[in-house]
Amino acid sequence: MKTPNGNETDLHAHDHTLKCGEVVHRVYAFLDGQMNLDDVLVFKDHLKVCLPCQAYVQFEEKLINMIKSKSCNDETKIPATLMDKIKKAIEVSNLPPKS
Ligand SMILES: [Zn+2]
Repeated sequence: MKTPNGNETDLHAHDHTLKCGEVVHRVYAFLDGQMNLDDVLVFKDHLKVCLPCQAYVQFEEKLINMIKSKSCNDETKIPATLMDKIKKAIEVSNLPPKS
């Protein structure tokens, strides 16, 4: 079923849920404060119920703070394996349910 102007997908864009993939794509806009208020609320809503994304956003936040403050030294290097684990967890939780 299509709407007369063919904007069928817009209905989904306004769904009050966010996919984990969206969180990954928009984490920088969120942390930089470049997201509009509505999106921020939806984003935060998702973080409340999604631990992998919560961990991912916290991780990115730390990373950005480190880069910004340039207090980055060899001891505070983040292991690539941790990043990998988080991204994997997000991918898994983002898989469509199989029937
Ligand atoms: Zn998520």
